[in-house]
Amino acid sequence: MKQTELLSASRPEDIRTAARILREGGLVGIPTETVYGLAANALDGKACAAIFAAKGRPADNPLIVHISDIKQLYTLVRDVPQEAERLASLYWPGPLTIILPKADCIPDEVSAGLDTVAVRFPSHPAAQAVIRESGLPLAAPSANLSGRPSPTTAQHVLHDLGGKIDAVLDGGPCSVGLESTVVTLACRPPRLLRPGGVTLEQLRAALGEVVLDPAVLNPLAAGAQAASPGMKYKHYAPKASVILLDGTREAYLSYVNSHTEGAGALCYAGDEEALRVPTVCYGSEENPAEQAQELFDALRRLDELGVSTVYARLPETSGVGLAVYNRLIRAAGFEVITL
Ligand code: AMP
Ligand code: MG
Repeated sequence: MKQTELLSASRPEDIRTAARILREGGLVGIPTETVYGLAANALDGKACAAIFAAKGRPADNPLIVHISDIKQLYTLVRDVPQEAERLASLYWPGPLTIILPKADCIPDEVSAGLDTVAVRFPSHPAAQAVIRESGLPLAAPSANLSGRPSPTTAQHVLHDLGGKIDAVLDGGPCSVGLESTVVTLACRPPRLLRPGGVTLEQLRAALGEVVLDPAVLNPLAAGAQAASPGMKYKHYAPKASVILLDGTREAYLSYVNSHTEGAGALCYAGDEEALRVPTVCYGSEENPAEQAQELFDALRRLDELGVSTVYARLPETSGVGLAVYNRLIRAAGFEVITL
């Protein structure tokens, strides 16, 4: 067991401490606008291997490299095509990860043996400050135990990884709340591998044709190769089993109220009073950005209530709703009941 130091993003000396730990090969949980990341020096294979050990992450699931200046992108990839420059000018800094063929400096631990690398320029000021102060690109997957809901507060990170990592930098709750959008430009046409705060509609407006990888909405077919290795694992799951109900509000309320044994509801604002089970609300039905921000914390809170089954309504798939749908359907292991 290590002593995990709790640092504050509002103290400049704590930013310097985080940067020093990272330069020395250590692991620090850092806030970003998407979710908290578990950061290490992206150019140090040994430091990155420690990320996999702390999270229990499968070795074939590559890491995203975080930068604080677009110029760093040119050192991490073989070539920067025009599409990457266009996306960077529109959505960086922000919740968008771009995949390109990797440069030789990227260790195998980061790319998990692929010949590509995923790069993101986060907008969170504390993430930018740590990257800048360390002088390094930082590899950082979500700072949770592999398979659990991603962390959106420093307390979530401590809950999962306290005693296993050197420090957590507390920068308050994350504003987007779901992991970044992942788009690959290493194939033609560009392909959306993971939906997030930058939407498919926005990517299509910027690039023209963008293919939605089938694994975003559906389970991977048996024997099929995942374009994004992270997509093949059950993910984001609380301890309770999640079941998605596809139907109207009325049908949802009536189904849950007749299946109350051990049940809890992940519901929209205004549904609480109509449900006869413990509830955690994750925003209003019309506001997917709010649902995104609340989802992972809500899943953790449902576990604290001790329920064994969580019922939620199947979200819409437009805009940021696609990202909410993608995370919930994986949390549910694709279990959907049509009402
Ligand atoms: P995480 O940082 O835990 O949210 O996961 C990062 C996601 O990006 C995972 O789903 C990875 O499989 C995916 N990813 C990272 N690098 C690559 C890459 N080079 N090619 C395809 N997917 C990638
Ligand atoms: Mg993750």
